[in-house]
Amino acid sequence: MNLLDNINGEVSHILQRAIDGHPPSIDEAELLFNCTGQEFLALILVADQIRRRAVGDIVTYVINRNINFTNVCVNRCRFCAFREDKDSPNQFLLSTKEIENKTREAINMRATEVCIQGGLHPEATLDLYLEIIKAVRRVSPDIHIHAFSPMEIHHAARKEGLSTCEVLKILKEAGLNSMPGTAAEILVDKVREVICPTKISVKEWIKIIEEAHRLGILTSSTMMYGHIESSRDKAVHMDILRNIQKRTKGFTEFVPLSFIHQQTELYKNFSSRPGATGMEDVKVYAISRLMFDGLINNIQVSWVKLGTKFAQFCLNAGANDFGGTLIEENISKIAGSPSGEYLPPETIIALIKDCGRIPVQRTTIYELIG
Ligand code: SF4
Repeated sequence: MNLLDNINGEVSHILQRAIDGHPPSIDEAELLFNCTGQEFLALILVADQIRRRAVGDIVTYVINRNINFTNVCVNRCRFCAFREDKDSPNQFLLSTKEIENKTREAINMRATEVCIQGGLHPEATLDLYLEIIKAVRRVSPDIHIHAFSPMEIHHAARKEGLSTCEVLKILKEAGLNSMPGTAAEILVDKVREVICPTKISVKEWIKIIEEAHRLGILTSSTMMYGHIESSRDKAVHMDILRNIQKRTKGFTEFVPLSFIHQQTELYKNFSSRPGATGMEDVKVYAISRLMFDGLINNIQVSWVKLGTKFAQFCLNAGANDFGGTLIEENISKIAGSPSGEYLPPETIIALIKDCGRIPVQRTTIYELIG
């Protein structure tokens, strides 16, 4: 039986073209976001086939730990339940000793990566970011430092009176290996004006990401969805990412981040949706597999946002990476995510095998281990 036997019309045509190696345009992706029933099922099957063609049956995972070094932030993104004011009783700023200890703990748990991000502390000069890298390097010359979003790079540059490119160069020389492509949210300025009005613009985000790529600093790419954005906004976002990838080849992966709404101002006061529906989550995985075909091979399920059961399902809808063990995940937890802070590698391996796939540990930049 052909995958497209049960459907016809425009969606069938778009899916057939994707199978033939022609990824959907923005208009076509927008149309796919509206599909239901047999068309929805066909979309999943096609995404799964394209995933198999691109990366085979291996599902990768990384042993890593998060280090959120401060929750103090001068920004007030309306989807963020993590930030605190400097005089809040709940604020924290980790000392370099604490960062050393957390790195040691990561190494003891066989982590190959520390993922370091924080709020935009009003007193954070470039020195703070350098001190963090040095603290990790004092404990381990080898562990991969995946750190600092484009927004943090912008913040350090602004505080220091340097260009973002100069800041990236200095951090790279100090030992930064790669960066999270966070702060992307939805790369449509009219959406950003509502959800994160003081964050860098789309143009600034693209500029910093491309500077990093050109300096040899690979990054992930992300999209936070399920709030006020439209289907078209998601399609435009993915199109921006694939155009960057055509220019730089600097993205290692795409990580869809489903909005966790419960404790956020965006949900309480700005009429956002209460996160994505299950249908929407699955479509994001399937459509991103089609949109990024031939450009970004790795699509990561975020078990922290989706829960492990649904993450397993999404592995059958285009995804091929299970993300990280993530010792200490604060940001989603505070926003209301019920999923835990840590999944042992053994649990991840069992979940992947249960899907009939092959679990393989990887490094941050997708070198296979073992
Ligand atoms: S998302 Fe980041 S930049 Fe925005 S308020 Fe939260 S910590 Fe600050």
